[in-house]
Amino acid sequence: MTTRQRTRVVVIGAGQAGLSVAYFLRRLGLVPRDDYVVLDRGPGTGGAWQFRWESLRLGSAHRVHDLPGLDELGLSFATADHKRPAREVVMEYYEAYERHFELPVLRPAAVSSVGYEDSELVVRSGAGEFATDLVINATGTWGAPFVPYVAGAERFRGRQLHTSGYTSAEQFRGQSVVIVGGGTSAVGFLHELEGVAAQLTWTSRRPIDWIDQTELTPEAGALAVSMQDDAARAGLALPSIVSGTGIPRTRRNHAGIQRGLLVAERMFTRIEPDGVRWPDGSLLRADAIIWATGFRPELRHLAPLKLREKEGGVAVAAGASWRDPRIFFAGYGPQASTIGANRAGRVVARQAIAALSRLGSLGA
Ligand code: FAD
Repeated sequence: MTTRQRTRVVVIGAGQAGLSVAYFLRRLGLVPRDDYVVLDRGPGTGGAWQFRWESLRLGSAHRVHDLPGLDELGLSFATADHKRPAREVVMEYYEAYERHFELPVLRPAAVSSVGYEDSELVVRSGAGEFATDLVINATGTWGAPFVPYVAGAERFRGRQLHTSGYTSAEQFRGQSVVIVGGGTSAVGFLHELEGVAAQLTWTSRRPIDWIDQTELTPEAGALAVSMQDDAARAGLALPSIVSGTGIPRTRRNHAGIQRGLLVAERMFTRIEPDGVRWPDGSLLRADAIIWATGFRPELRHLAPLKLREKEGGVAVAAGASWRDPRIFFAGYGPQASTIGANRAGRVVARQAIAALSRLGSLGA
C-alpha cells in the first residue's frame, strides 16, 4: 500500500520557476520537507535545460536570468563560461543552488495526477502520495511539444522530429531538411545546419517578425507579457511568446537574411511520402522535417481537477486558478521566461503563504 504523507504545499517541477518558488517559501518561513516539498520528474537538476541540445549556449537565444539569491553562491549566468553547453552550466548552477538553500527537491518524482479526495488535494507521484493544502504547478512546457497537423504527415518516409528531440546538426549531414516554425529555435537550427545539410528550407505559417533591436525592448517584452496574461485570464490556449516579441535582427541574423539563409517560404500545404508539397503544386524532396513549432503548458497531471475552460486553457489570474484558488501556477503564460519565472517565485510564494493563513493552516 502506498503511504500518504501530509504537507502544506507541494511544488511540482524544479526548473527556474519551481526553484524560485521554493527559495521564497523558505524565506517566508516555511520549513523545507516539513511544510513543503518539490517534486521533479527529471533524473537530474536543470529543469528542461538538462534535455537541451549540446550546441545550445547561454545567451544564444535570450538572456538567462539568475535565480533569486544565486549571487550568495558567487555565481551568475552573466559571467558563466558561454563556450560550455548551456545545459551543463545550468545543471551545475541549479545543483549548487538546491544544495546551498537546502531546497527539498525529491527526484525522480513524476506527478501522475493531482485530484480531490473529499475536497482534500492529493498528489500522486513516483515518490509517493501527498495530501496537501496547496499545489504550486511549475511544470514548464518542455514535456508538451506542439506539432500542428498537416495532411499526409503520417505517410512521410523521412524523419520528423520536434525541437525537443533535436540533438545535433551532424545527424542531418548531406540531407535535404525542412525547418518549420517562426521562432528563435528555428533560426538557431538554420544557423547550425548551414553547411552541414545539403539543402535547407525554412517555412513558417506567419511572416517572420524581425525586430531591429538586438535585445528585447521593454515595450516588446510588455506586449508579449500582456498578450499572454490576457489569454491566461480568459482561459484561452496561450499564444506563442514569439508572436508578441518578434526575432531580433542581430548582426548574425541580418547576415543570414542577406545571404538567403534566413528567408522563410510560405507554409507547405501537405506532406507526401518523399517531401512536402508547396501551394503552387510543386514537390520539394526532403529527408527530414524539423518542427520548431513550440510548446504548450504541461498540465496533463491536473486533468482530474477539471480546471480547463471550454476555450481550451486554464483561467489563471495573479498566479492562481480561478476555479480553485488552492492551485497556483508559476512560470505559466506571461511568466514563461527565466525572468518571469523568478518574479513568479516571489509573487506566488507570497500568495501561497496568504492562502495558508486564510485556510488556517499556518501555526496549526
Ligand atoms: P522547466 O525548466 O521546463 O522546468 C519544469 C520542470 O518540471 C522540469 O524539471 C520537469 O521535469 C518538471 N515536470 C514537468 N512535468 C512534471 C510532472 N508531471 N511531475 C514532476 N515534474 C514535472 N528563457 C530565457 O529566459 N532565456 C533563454 O535563453 C531561453 N532559452 C530557451 C531555449 C529553448 C530551446 C527553449 C525551449 C526555451 C528557452 N527559454 C529561455 C524558456 C525557458 O524554458 C524558460 O525561461 C525557463 O527555463 C522555464 O523554466 P520553468 O521552471 O518554467 O520550466
